[in-house]
Amino acid sequence: MRVERFNSYEEMSEFIASAYAAQLILKPESVLGFATGSTPLGAYAKLIEMYKAGKVDFSKCTSFNLDEYYPISRKNDQSYYYFMMENLFKHINIRPESIHVPNGEVSDYEKECEDYDNLIDEFGGIDLQLLGIGENGHIGFNEPEAKLYNKTHMTGLTESTIAANARFFASADEVPKNAITMGVGSIFKARKIIIAINGKKKLDAFNKLMEDRIDTSCPATLLNLHSDVIVAYSEN
Ligand code: PGA
Repeated sequence: MRVERFNSYEEMSEFIASAYAAQLILKPESVLGFATGSTPLGAYAKLIEMYKAGKVDFSKCTSFNLDEYYPISRKNDQSYYYFMMENLFKHINIRPESIHVPNGEVSDYEKECEDYDNLIDEFGGIDLQLLGIGENGHIGFNEPEAKLYNKTHMTGLTESTIAANARFFASADEVPKNAITMGVGSIFKARKIIIAINGKKKLDAFNKLMEDRIDTSCPATLLNLHSDVIVAYSEN
């Protein structure tokens, strides 16, 4: 695991955006894994800037997002589909049919989960996956638990995640209680992973990740087993 420490959120965002741009320059048809949350917003803003300056081209790439609330309408401004459209996709030249976010609108969520993993495989796997991290060490919605899931699956959100995400909803009661998330195995199939960690609130999770021990009560620690992970950390 390679650790990159940054003095500011701005520098960390610049680094992540540059990594995505480099990936697209080297392989225009890359399969890109994206994450939601406040942490990637700076990197997405930089990627939009780079696209507008003609420095990066998304026209041949495919994207897969990590997770989505369940159930939720894609029109709900708190859905991760909506988030990605607003904060990245509608500003760049990615083809609409190349955008994949787990669908929180379907009734058959088991089929949705199975299809999602199969589709990632059909596209040859994810080349570069961006991850955020929860204060509790979750990645995607793989929450701390004795047993973690390998594949894309539906999961209940922990009280701490509901509380952390309540800031985006009118109240904690409105936060959906479930989500569809790529499993740790689905995430691990990515050839390269960048995990972005920002802020003092994430220091505990960052320290656990640095312990070089695997602990399912901090799912991000599994990343110690992956052969190509960059930890991008900025305390500020
Ligand atoms: P955040 O969320 O970037 O909003 O802190 C990250 C996460 O929960 O994975």
